[in-house]
Amino acid sequence: MEEGLMKPITIVGGGICGLALGIALRHHDVPTKLYDSGTYPRHRVCGEFICGATDEVYRDLHIEDIFSDAHRHSSTSWHYQGKPVFQADLPVPALGMSRYLLDQRLARRFTKLGGTLHDDTPFEWRNESSGTPGLVWANGRVVESSPWIGLKIHLTDLAPLNDLELHLGNHAYAGLSAVESNRMNACGLFRKRPGIRARKETLFFEYLKASGLSYLAERLQAAKPDPASAIGVSSIRFGPQHLPDGKCHLGDHYTAIPPFTGNGMSMALECAWLAWDPLVKWSRDHLSWEQCLQIIHRQIRQRFTTRLQVAQWVHPLLYTPGFQPLLATMARFRILPFQSIYSLTH
Ligand SMILES: Cc1cc2nc3c(=O)[nH]c(=O)nc-3n(C[C@H](O)[C@H](O)[C@H](O)COP(=O)(O)OP(=O)(O)OC[C@H]3O[C@@H](n4cnc5c(N)ncnc54)[C@H](O)[C@@H]3O)c2cc1C
Repeated sequence: MEEGLMKPITIVGGGICGLALGIALRHHDVPTKLYDSGTYPRHRVCGEFICGATDEVYRDLHIEDIFSDAHRHSSTSWHYQGKPVFQADLPVPALGMSRYLLDQRLARRFTKLGGTLHDDTPFEWRNESSGTPGLVWANGRVVESSPWIGLKIHLTDLAPLNDLELHLGNHAYAGLSAVESNRMNACGLFRKRPGIRARKETLFFEYLKASGLSYLAERLQAAKPDPASAIGVSSIRFGPQHLPDGKCHLGDHYTAIPPFTGNGMSMALECAWLAWDPLVKWSRDHLSWEQCLQIIHRQIRQRFTTRLQVAQWVHPLLYTPGFQPLLATMARFRILPFQSIYSLTH
């Protein structure tokens, strides 16, 4: 079908989900506009490793080559009170790349394919219903107050202990992994502590210290942190976002999985993968908007329900001081069902 005859699609949100979807739609000649309130490149709070998306997802979205030089992380270690308690190989290697680079590459690819990108442009939808046909919401987590703060910073001189390090703290966990240009990404999720006041360059370290992870703070502070990469986000809520029916919501805007899984970006890509074909059919008038939404949301529910439930269940065990000794003991005696938890959460 000629491009001029196809119905246009507008995507709100140029994170990994919106951009990957935009690229797939442009590969099928769908006229696509995308709005993002930020600019590219920019740092994002993220552990910056992707676990779980299959080769098929990358291939069908036409983004395989974007990851060709990404790190392949094949092992993980867990640390409790400064000591390693567990080490395992990942069933499938995780991909490591900073969001700074990844989002920029995706945005460039989208525009190169003829997509219209309005960055630095928050989408104004006052004059339209949020369920307007052709409007796709990939605008990330719904902003609401929460007890959590996420913090991240890059380090330029840090020797890793493992491909993916996970450190358990008091109502906190923090992860380390390599990204491009010999940089390490450090990212943590912390229960908010209103007493902590610090500049954004040092906030991460203050939170680590307050969460019983001083040994990690010292190690990171000695490893040339890059102040320009320091960033935080505070309105973090995990689980379904309780959005109204009748609108197309994808990625974190649909549901956000706890970050220890390293599966949020994969879910964002998988959402784009499940959505592109019904959206192309809608654009070509082969499906009504209602049919298109039904197909997308049914597939998303089928694919994600188990992993979300298991992740929600494991998440508190990682950060709650009462559970951590048990977890650490199970890990030491190698009775932690790591492979089962991994396969149920990916
Ligand atoms: C602490 C922490 C660590 C994490 N670590 C990992 C990890 O290691 N691996 C992993 O896979 N996942 C991780 N995640 C989750 C992952 O970051 C998200 O699941 C993923 O970014 C979701 O992608 P998305 O495209 O749905 O949303 P986002 O990447 O959040 O993109 C949404 C976009 O929408 C834009 N936007 C919002 N509102 C508007 C508007 N009104 N108009 C225009 N644009 C708008 C925003 O600017 C943003 O660019 C982590 C999350 C947290 C909080």
